[in-house]
Amino acid sequence: MPTMLETTKALLASNRARREGVPPLRETVRALFATGLLPPASGKVVTGYGTGKRCVICYQSVTSEQVEYEVDGRVICHLPCFNVWREETIQRAIQALPDDGTGVIDSIRL
Ligand SMILES: [Zn+2]
Repeated sequence: MPTMLETTKALLASNRARREGVPPLRETVRALFATGLLPPASGKVVTGYGTGKRCVICYQSVTSEQVEYEVDGRVICHLPCFNVWREETIQRAIQALPDDGTGVIDSIRL
């Protein structure tokens, strides 16, 4: 029977292991935004089957069985990666609006 301290230590270790693994998509998108490596998800979007190019968000190839998103003629990503990227872009645009209610939602370009 493990003691409470041993159980707590095991839980902390497993949480730490999880954090050090591949971060969830949203954390990745936020980190890429923070470092300036990822532009806002705006511009023309072209979709099609994957051509084996690498997704800018998860760094995995977009295979021919997957849907590839080409954003603004240059950024390639998967459909689920694009969805999170777009959500985070909208979230950031909303946060950037002034608090006095004068912000115009049309300023969000998607
Ligand atoms: Zn991806």
